Amino acid sequence: MKYSWGSHPNIKCNELELKSSSDLKNTILDTDEFIIHGNGRSYGDSGINKTIVKSIDYNSVISFNEEEGILEAQSGILLKDILKIIVPKGWFLKVTPGSKYITLGGAIASDVHGKNHHIDGCFSESVLSFNLMLSNGRVENCKKRDELFLASCGGMGLTGVILDAKISLMKINSKNIDTISIKTNNLQETFDIFESKALYKYSVAWLDTSAQDIDIGRGLVSIGDFSTDGDLSYVPCSSKISIPSWTPSLLINKYTVKIFNFLYYNLQFKKIKKSKLSFDRFFYPLDGLNNWNNLYGKNGFIQYQFILPKEQSYKGMNEILKFIASEGLFSFLAVLKLYGEENENYLSFPLKGYSLAIDFKLSKSLYDVLKKLDKIVLKYKGRIYLSKDVRINKEDFEMNYSKINQFRNIREKYQMNKKFQSLQSKRVKI
Ligand SMILES: Cc1cc2nc3c(=O)[nH]c(=O)nc-3n(C[C@H](O)[C@H](O)[C@H](O)COP(=O)(O)OP(=O)(O)OC[C@H]3O[C@@H](n4cnc5c(N)ncnc54)[C@H](O)[C@@H]3O)c2cc1C
Repeated sequence: MKYSWGSHPNIKCNELELKSSSDLKNTILDTDEFIIHGNGRSYGDSGINKTIVKSIDYNSVISFNEEEGILEAQSGILLKDILKIIVPKGWFLKVTPGSKYITLGGAIASDVHGKNHHIDGCFSESVLSFNLMLSNGRVENCKKRDELFLASCGGMGLTGVILDAKISLMKINSKNIDTISIKTNNLQETFDIFESKALYKYSVAWLDTSAQDIDIGRGLVSIGDFSTDGDLSYVPCSSKISIPSWTPSLLINKYTVKIFNFLYYNLQFKKIKKSKLSFDRFFYPLDGLNNWNNLYGKNGFIQYQFILPKEQSYKGMNEILKFIASEGLFSFLAVLKLYGEENENYLSFPLKGYSLAIDFKLSKSLYDVLKKLDKIVLKYKGRIYLSKDVRINKEDFEMNYSKINQFRNIREKYQMNKKFQSLQSKRVKI
């Protein structure tokens, strides 16, 4: 059984289930230490411990106000199931990450961001309130600006169990996105496109990490917004292809990645390509291939995601991409995004700047190389994203999370640190 998207660490967990709040209270009082687990779409060890409580079957919709666009649901519901209900009625999530197979609780606990952070911020901006079960079994209703709200949004399940949440939605007139894909020749051009198109609601870039020298940072920048064509006839894309768990990791090597990157970059012939895509294809392209993480074989992979403040972003990204190229690291997924202002939550990842997420197949030397990457990220005052992380140490993690002590104080005040622990929280000592 895999408990994280990166497929490691591969430990055996004692699995309990969240069935009802009274049941959970007993679990909390009877269990020494555990972590709540959503759908295991975080890449590292944030949802793993010897004992986990799975929320996935605690997934009912409590209410949906179609006029005002307010939905209340239990925390184990998947975003894909929310979308099935709200899209035909002309509503959408204000913020969505790159997978719809995550739970509502997981979205809040990671305070996930999407392709519109520079305009709309993190998922927590859409959260009106939630019920949180604390380490003594008491349920607290948390609203914006409460200390428990600030600590729990981005708090990685370490403040308690989010039972249910009320979120506000965004009005749409179509299930389609009008997109423009712009091919760039180097990093400067990629940054210039992001900046000149910053008024567009959604933006994201795929970078060709096989590029060398003056081509470094070239890629495809995708920008877009919901269409106004009135088409709300939503039939969810369900993928027909599944990658089996026995897939040999040899499939991913520097030659296949090079070929993939070459084709992906060059198959767009024109500088600018316009298209209309269903939101499934625009927001969740990877969901189209079931269990694509199996492509990395049984040892798995690491997604390294960091963010750099705006003033440092270009210089830092340039140095990092050159470093990756010089180390002979290869990746077919490297995603660059633009971010707006940081929010008040204690551990939310985004700050005003740019982030890069890159997948690397696990190898013996990878940890040493990533350690060197950490040093460059920290030199540019950057942060590492906990939802993707499986290896950062305490000192490096906390260096640029300036509200870390407020988080630790809350954990102590409510004795959360005695009950809610993950492998990650023990490693980074939060
Ligand atoms: C293909 C893909 C694309 C992605 N794209 C993005 C992206 O664009 N932006 C982004 O921000 N993230 C992205 N992610 C990461 C993902 O959105 C987060 O890791 C998310 O938290 C996973 O949710 P989950 O339900 O699978 O939770 P899990 O992975 O099981 O758990 C994640 C964390 O949430 C906590 N948690 C889960 N449920 C609860 C609850 N009820 N109460 C309290 N805490 C809880 C867990 O303890 C754990 O710390 C992506 C992941 C994948 C696989």
